[in-house]
Amino acid sequence: MELKFDLADERQIAALEATIDEKQKQIATFERIFTGLKMEEAAIDHRETFERLESSKRELTAHTLKRNEMLARSRYYLKAMNCPHHHKLFAAVPRSYRDLPLRLAEYGTDYRYEKSGELFGLMRVRSLQMNDAHIYCTPEQFEAEFNAVNEMYLKYFKLFGIEKYLMRFSTHDPTKLGQKFVDEPDLWKQTEIMTRNVLKNSGINYVEVPNEAAFYGPKIDVQAWSVIGREFSIATNQVDFSQPRNFDLRYKDRDNIDKIPICIHRAPLGTHERFIGFLIEHYAGNFPLWLAPEQVRILPIGDDTKVLDYSMSILNELRAQQVRAEIDKSSDNINGKIQRAEQMKVHTMFVIGKRDMGANAVSVRVHGKGNLGAKPRGDAIADILLSIKERRV
Ligand SMILES: [Zn+2]
Repeated sequence: MELKFDLADERQIAALEATIDEKQKQIATFERIFTGLKMEEAAIDHRETFERLESSKRELTAHTLKRNEMLARSRYYLKAMNCPHHHKLFAAVPRSYRDLPLRLAEYGTDYRYEKSGELFGLMRVRSLQMNDAHIYCTPEQFEAEFNAVNEMYLKYFKLFGIEKYLMRFSTHDPTKLGQKFVDEPDLWKQTEIMTRNVLKNSGINYVEVPNEAAFYGPKIDVQAWSVIGREFSIATNQVDFSQPRNFDLRYKDRDNIDKIPICIHRAPLGTHERFIGFLIEHYAGNFPLWLAPEQVRILPIGDDTKVLDYSMSILNELRAQQVRAEIDKSSDNINGKIQRAEQMKVHTMFVIGKRDMGANAVSVRVHGKGNLGAKPRGDAIADILLSIKERRV
């Protein structure tokens, strides 16, 4: 699929829109003249006008066709969600059971026109990034796929130090099949049992909520509590038997018969924006080193050129290793520099004086932990790199 924005095309479309508008008005005027007349009478008594009406109609059709063709070719659309786009990718080529499970993942940008009164910091925004994926699988593959998704959630919780969370597993009510829930009794039963097994076997903290599933399948919402005790809904995971049917998604099974895949929608971090909002609260701004916006700040003591050069060489070494490092070259005394870095919650500070330079060392200070003493330069940098690599919390 080719997407492009061509200014000349856009101008032509605008001109076509204007012409279409004009033609519609003309036609309305002509038709008013002929009100109450039979078409044959109109054709005879008002021949010239009648012909103009007919030609206006022909032009309108031609312009409309042209406009539609151009729109189809060159217009961008804002998407509110990723699902339909992934479904279209699935449907783009014939699929067989050998292609399944097919997992399409995307850090997709979506747009939702939330009312201005409903916008709320990072928690509710109009342009959002969803770490979204759609997994297309056979009913036989469902349990393994769902388990893998579940493992991924657990991995994320561990990574971000989320110790308190609850999975809400919403199931259907068999008496409401065909009304509140899509009428697929066997699929409901089967997927709910498998989902329940996965949750039980992984020892995950979950509750089951009957009658709250989505129309098209059982769903799992994840609630997490930040360190300061605020509750956030950060992730959802849904089983879907309905959209694949609506989008006419099929695969050829072993017996060469067309079957409809099951789709798992998963977004373990929800939207990027909301998740960052959660993390800021969760860590109360004291990010672990690997997540800190500013990981290391170098604080040279005094204005000795050699100390500054030595500090700069450390800064460059850190930056060459992709560490988010800064240097405070202000004329403030060292206590002022430390205080400012502490206030800004910079994770690690390298304080550098003449003695450090002489020993090819740095004095390490960590936010909230205070002075950790002098360390050889190589060791201090290696510690930083390892902590980032291991994503230590
Ligand atoms: Zn989806």
